[in-house]
Amino acid sequence: MSDSHKYCPSLIDYKRRETIEVNIGGVPMGANNPIRVQSMTTVDTMDTEGSIEQSIRMVESGCEYVRITAPSIKEAQNLEEIKRGLRAKGYQVPLVADIHFTPNAAELAAKIVEKVRVNPGNYADKKKFEELAYTDETYELELKRIRQKFEPLVKLCKEHGTAMRIGTNHGSLSDRIMGRFGDTPLGMVESALEFLRICEDLEFYDIVISMKASNTRVMVQAYRLLVHKLEEEGLRPYPLHLGVTEAGDGEDGRIKSAVGIGALLEDGLGDTVRVSLTEEPEFEAPVAQALVDRYSDRAGHGAIAPLAESPVNPFVYERRVTQEVLNLGDHNVPRVIADFSKKGKIEIKDLKEIGHFYLPEPDKWRMNDTGADYIYSGINPIEFMLPNGLQEIIDYSVWKDLSDQNNKYPLVTIDELSTVDKEQVTFVSMEANELNKIDQLQGHTQAIILLHTANKHAMASLRRFVFELIIKELTLPIVINWHQEISDKEDFQLASATDIGGLLIDGLGDGVMLAGNGNKKVENETAFGILQAARTRMTKTEYISCPSCGRTLFDLQETTAMIRKRTDHLKGVKIGIMGCIVNGPGEMADADYGYVGSGKDKITLYRGQEVVKRAVHSDYAVDELIQIIKDDGSWVEPEAIDAILN
Ligand code: SF4
Repeated sequence: MSDSHKYCPSLIDYKRRETIEVNIGGVPMGANNPIRVQSMTTVDTMDTEGSIEQSIRMVESGCEYVRITAPSIKEAQNLEEIKRGLRAKGYQVPLVADIHFTPNAAELAAKIVEKVRVNPGNYADKKKFEELAYTDETYELELKRIRQKFEPLVKLCKEHGTAMRIGTNHGSLSDRIMGRFGDTPLGMVESALEFLRICEDLEFYDIVISMKASNTRVMVQAYRLLVHKLEEEGLRPYPLHLGVTEAGDGEDGRIKSAVGIGALLEDGLGDTVRVSLTEEPEFEAPVAQALVDRYSDRAGHGAIAPLAESPVNPFVYERRVTQEVLNLGDHNVPRVIADFSKKGKIEIKDLKEIGHFYLPEPDKWRMNDTGADYIYSGINPIEFMLPNGLQEIIDYSVWKDLSDQNNKYPLVTIDELSTVDKEQVTFVSMEANELNKIDQLQGHTQAIILLHTANKHAMASLRRFVFELIIKELTLPIVINWHQEISDKEDFQLASATDIGGLLIDGLGDGVMLAGNGNKKVENETAFGILQAARTRMTKTEYISCPSCGRTLFDLQETTAMIRKRTDHLKGVKIGIMGCIVNGPGEMADADYGYVGSGKDKITLYRGQEVVKRAVHSDYAVDELIQIIKDDGSWVEPEAIDAILN
């Protein structure tokens, strides 16, 4: 890796980034400590018993730190009661106070809990959404003002042995940062560095940093850039707290978290993980732990070929330049191939699992939003006529004798490739360590590489292969062929999303073929879920919903479920659902529509970042939201057929 692109210890060997150790109430983080798991309560902080009970459930589920919101002095004060209650019941878990806007609450909390999280976007600034142009002079004055506000907290933390997280959030950058750097990974990094420089100047180093966003691409780039900038500026290697904000719920939330958090863990970044789900907080730690556990025996993986310099810029997204073969590569969205090669005889009804439905009346095929693009049938060619939109891949040994090869393509090994005509559309199976065979692809203009790896360090091994193609200027499309025998659905989703997501985030990969779970519906939907989470192919409505916390102004889980029920047929529309205003407007930059709590039973509705309706009663807010979507012409009625298909 060239110095100008360095962000992790190695792109080929699994190694954790070396960091300083930060002590948080006797549970140290960073250095050689395990990657810690944490979460945040959702009950009102003034509900002492509720907070204690929920914290205990979180600890029992694996949480090593418990974060609790402190929106004002009275909640900060109540942290003392919560802490006392937990200790009395024998729970020593370190507590973290979550602060937005209120330095006085932070200063009080710093004397009570083991760690304070500040959001540099709103600690010293009230967001006014003003576009301000700063000269170097006025910018300097702003930094002085921030220091005045922030310095007392740093001094208190130092005095009381309280750690701090400087937690930047893409959705709540200050007007100052937005004015100078925009809504960018660099803006996020600079937002944290402004605060970090003050801490270092005051010789306070018990700091953890985070760079969260709901957009996985932005989030990954921001963490990488942060590591790079810390080193470039000679600042200490502080531990990283990883998280994707507003990941949503259920499978989508898990897959999205795995794509973002996993991409960083693969490169050895991250010292603590918080998975944010719009669910009860005790469901978060097991997911975080499953992501972290993948690295417990990662060191000592199979060797990956050395790499002199990475051919991609890890701080910006650029899709690998490829040529179009069939509907793969170039500007096509990544395609999904369903692997039925182990199935034996394939029947019409089997295609239901991959989104293609045969309706005897009116004798037609219909496809839902997650209809696979290709099916790989191995040595068992499909005997019925395939629906439009589905093409077949067959092992070469069988394909070559077929009388009808229309919409059917051969799969060869790289060693068989020389027997195939150079102009023939051909899928070529390759193992990621076969770098020495890449030259055999030269001259084949219609080949599509189906790339797999047996290496435990899968993402890095696959990436290394793609890098070699870039270095050799070969532009054939690549489909990632990921196969691991994991029958547990959630484990399968987390592992595949981590390995494949890490590639897609860097623009590497023109399709995916997933197998190993055994359930074809799970494999197919996971493939589409990963593409969506990595923002490469949008096939369903995306819900950017916050996990909720003590600030939440309505029942987030219930509301998200209700909005999902009415809108989840809207392909590609992004809806933000935020419990309060803290991250609301910022995250709206990433959403098409927003539903944000603004007071008791009161909702503010957004179109992008623009407020469309204020103070709508929650009884009517979902209807109003749908009306806004209709007024924009973005609404479609759910087809009656969807009821049959799903
Ligand atoms: S956006 Fe949600 S999780 Fe974040 S502070 Fe508001 S209510 Fe809490």
